[in-house]
Amino acid sequence: MNDLSTLADTARCPVRSLHGKCAVVTGSTSGIGLGIARALAGAGLNIVLNGFGTGEEIEAERQELERTFEIKTAYSAADMSQPADILALIQKAENTFGNVDILVNNAGIQHVEAIETFPTAMWDKIIAINLTAAFHTTRAVLQGMKQRKWGRIINVASAHALVASPFKSAYVASKHGILGLTKTTALETAEHGITANAICPGYVLTPLVERQIPETAHARMLTEEQVVRDVLLKAQPTRQFVTTDQVGGLTVFLCTDSAASITGAALPIEGGWTAQ
Ligand code: NAD
Repeated sequence: MNDLSTLADTARCPVRSLHGKCAVVTGSTSGIGLGIARALAGAGLNIVLNGFGTGEEIEAERQELERTFEIKTAYSAADMSQPADILALIQKAENTFGNVDILVNNAGIQHVEAIETFPTAMWDKIIAINLTAAFHTTRAVLQGMKQRKWGRIINVASAHALVASPFKSAYVASKHGILGLTKTTALETAEHGITANAICPGYVLTPLVERQIPETAHARMLTEEQVVRDVLLKAQPTRQFVTTDQVGGLTVFLCTDSAASITGAALPIEGGWTAQ
């Protein structure tokens, strides 16, 4: 195939150049991370899954991804609050697939409580998983990406990287923090064929959000129905939850050559929340 026909082929199918590359997606046994893993697998990438869950569930998911998308997967149970585990995750990806081409820092947790009573151990845990883990993964993959002159780092931040809500101090701080890390990563890699971006979803109905409905009801003295209608969806002018497929689609786009000039950006996908 000559260069022109390769170009034409890539233009027809922008994900073609992603086939066979390796993506590590942290926190991909559930919710948004799983949606991103599926979308990247659909684009032909080999995937390293990570996150908690039962052995049978994870194995079933792994096999289903391999069968459906004809790709290869690996799984690491690394706890993203533990720097040694994080290095082992990257090592496993490199040992299995040779390189990490795409890193998606997605693992995250939430706790909803007023600052005065917010447990300090929970503050530390949220900062460790939602923010510090991304420093460790990024640090571990950058040298290889620079050598190969290609890489994509996608940090799953949140609309809470751009605006705050009460009772979510650690989460909002971690998400504003990861936006700062994203911008710094973008500047340090701009001349190396690497992009670093933050995706900022609004509310997506995943286990993380389902768990915070009763916590928010308690903190704000509302019923759970009121929390969904008057707190969560009220924030989003579309009055719709964002879907995991939509976040997956945006992630794949950021990995294509069409997105090579998008770096250091915070990309809202939040039904108009932060436009208000
Ligand atoms: P989720 O609870 O459905 O999934 C979280 C994933 O992270 C799971 O796979 C879980 O096993 C994993 N995880 C948690 N702690 C971990 C740890 N210590 N080590 C390794 N893996 C760990 O949550 P979600 O809603 O899919 O959230 C994923 C990301 O998206 C988070 O960073 C979250 O802040 C962000 N986000 C979510 C929403 C939303 O509305 N759901 C909105 C904006 C941003």
